[in-house]
Amino acid sequence: MDEKALKIEKSLLLAIENQAEKSYPYECCGLVLGNFTKNGSEAFEYVPLENTKEENRERRFLIDQGEYQRIEDRADEKGQSIVSIVHSHPDHPDKPSQFDQDHAWPGLSYIIVSVMKGKAKSLSSWQLKNDRSSFTQEKINTWEH
Ligand SMILES: [Zn+2]
Repeated sequence: MDEKALKIEKSLLLAIENQAEKSYPYECCGLVLGNFTKNGSEAFEYVPLENTKEENRERRFLIDQGEYQRIEDRADEKGQSIVSIVHSHPDHPDKPSQFDQDHAWPGLSYIIVSVMKGKAKSLSSWQLKNDRSSFTQEKINTWEH
């Protein structure tokens, strides 16, 4: 079985953790732009977004559809794609919830940041199986300039 991996620059991960901490105690969300590769994906840019969920933002996030479309179009113009959807879990582990599973799409990476008492504790990336039965954790390969 070939294991997929997300290749991402350290500074982008730090930007994600930063946003997750600033959004605490609410969930943050954002999109990672990059390219799909033979072995997964490669990230180029992080676009932080506003959590547009109107209630229960401690446990839920919502990305505005129009905003998603705009960012997808922008990525398209640069020959890139949305490769990952990011959100945080305030005071919960970085594991996908049943809700996450019910709302995810196969083919994208789902990055989850666990923020405990306002501090980013851990971060992991997940892919939904094609039959939607569960998530598989994906390797994250970081690099620095
Ligand atoms: Zn979640």
